Amino acid sequence: MPIYQTSGFQFEDPSVFADGMTRPDGAFVYGRYSNPTVRSLEEAVAGLEGGVAAVAAASGMGAINMVLLGLLQPGDHVIAQHALYGGTAHMLDDLVERFGLQVSYVAEDDPAAVLAAVRPQTKLLYLETIANPMTQVADLPAMCAAAREAGILTAVDNTFASPILCRPIEHGADIVLHSTTKYLSGHADLLGGMAVFADDALYRKVWSYSCALGATPDPFASWLTLRGMQTLAVRMERHCANARVLATRLAEHPAVAAVHWPGLTTHPSHDLAAKLLSDFNGVLSFDLRGGRPAGERFMSAVRLALLAPSLGGVETLVLHPASTSHRLLDDAQLAQAGIGQGTVRVAVGIEHAEDLWDDLTQALEIADQ
Ligand SMILES: *Cc1c(COP(=O)(O)O)cnc(C)c1O
Repeated sequence: MPIYQTSGFQFEDPSVFADGMTRPDGAFVYGRYSNPTVRSLEEAVAGLEGGVAAVAAASGMGAINMVLLGLLQPGDHVIAQHALYGGTAHMLDDLVERFGLQVSYVAEDDPAAVLAAVRPQTKLLYLETIANPMTQVADLPAMCAAAREAGILTAVDNTFASPILCRPIEHGADIVLHSTTKYLSGHADLLGGMAVFADDALYRKVWSYSCALGATPDPFASWLTLRGMQTLAVRMERHCANARVLATRLAEHPAVAAVHWPGLTTHPSHDLAAKLLSDFNGVLSFDLRGGRPAGERFMSAVRLALLAPSLGGVETLVLHPASTSHRLLDDAQLAQAGIGQGTVRVAVGIEHAEDLWDDLTQALEIADQ
C-alpha cells in the first residue's frame, strides 16, 4: 500500500464528488473523510478483529472520544468497569461534569452488577479486555451477554490484548477500541487509534461523526502502523514468552511481595484468562517489599529497561504507577485499584529474556538496599 500523502482528491464527475462526502464507501474526497492508506489500515484491523468495518483516529483517545461523543448525548447513562485507562477515566469524569453524562462503575467480571445498574437512559457498557496496571481480565462473554439482555451496546478497549490474544466481537462486543500506538504499530514511533464495529449501521453513524470531529490519522502514521502489523503475531509471541519468564522469576524473588500477571495461577483472573486469551499478555506489575522508596530506587537503577510511559513497542519499559500514570488517585483510590506505593509496571519488550532478567535482578538488588 503506497502512502497517499494528500489532503484531497480531484474529480471529473461532480456527482461522484458529492456522493463521496455522504458515505464511507463512496469515492475518496477529502482526508478528514477517508484516505486510501488509512482505509487499508482500517480494513486490516477490522479483518483481524472480525468486525464489518473500522474507523481510524489520530490516537487511542481520539478513537475513544469519537465513539463516546458520536454515540452518547446529555442525560445518557454509561456503565463502565472500575479499572480504566487513565485517559478514559478522565474523559468520562469530564463528560459527567460538563455534559451531563451519567456513569456507574462495576467490576469487570460482575454481569449481575451490570443488570442491576441498568436504567432507561443506559446506552453503553464500557470494558477493557486487560486492565492497567494490575492486569485484571474482563469476563467478556458474561458481561456482553448482560449488556445484550439489557438492550445496550458494549465497547471493549482491546489495546493490551491485541487481536492476537483476544477478539472481543467473538464474545459479543459491538465496538472494539485500540490505541494502535501500542502493539499494533509496535515500534513506539507514532500515535494512532481505531474503532472496529460489529454492525454496519453503527459504523456509518460513527464514521459520520468522525468526519466532523476531525481526530483524523495521518496517512504516514497509518502506513507505519500497517507495516508494523506485519510482525504483530511474532512480536506478541515474544512479548508473552518474555513476560512469562520475568513473572515466574519475580514471584520467587525475595525483594518482591507479589506479581500481577494473569499467567500465574495466583492471579485472580487466571482461570478466566486461560479461557479467553490465547496467551497471558506482555504487561505485568509487581509490588516491592520496600514500598515507595524501593520503587523509586528501582526506577533509577534499570539500565536495559527504559523508564518511560506507554507499552507495546519492542523495548521494555518500566514505570511507577503511584507517581506517574495513577498520580491523580488518592491513597484510598490507589488501594481500591490494588496499586501500592511499591508497585512497578513492566511493559515487557522483545529483548532476550536473560538480558532482561539480568537487568531486573541488578535493579532489584539496588531497590532492596
Ligand atoms: C494508551 C492507551 C490508550 C490511549 O491511547 P493513545 O494512543 O495514547 O491516545 C487507551 N487505552 C489503553 C488501554 C491504552 O493503553
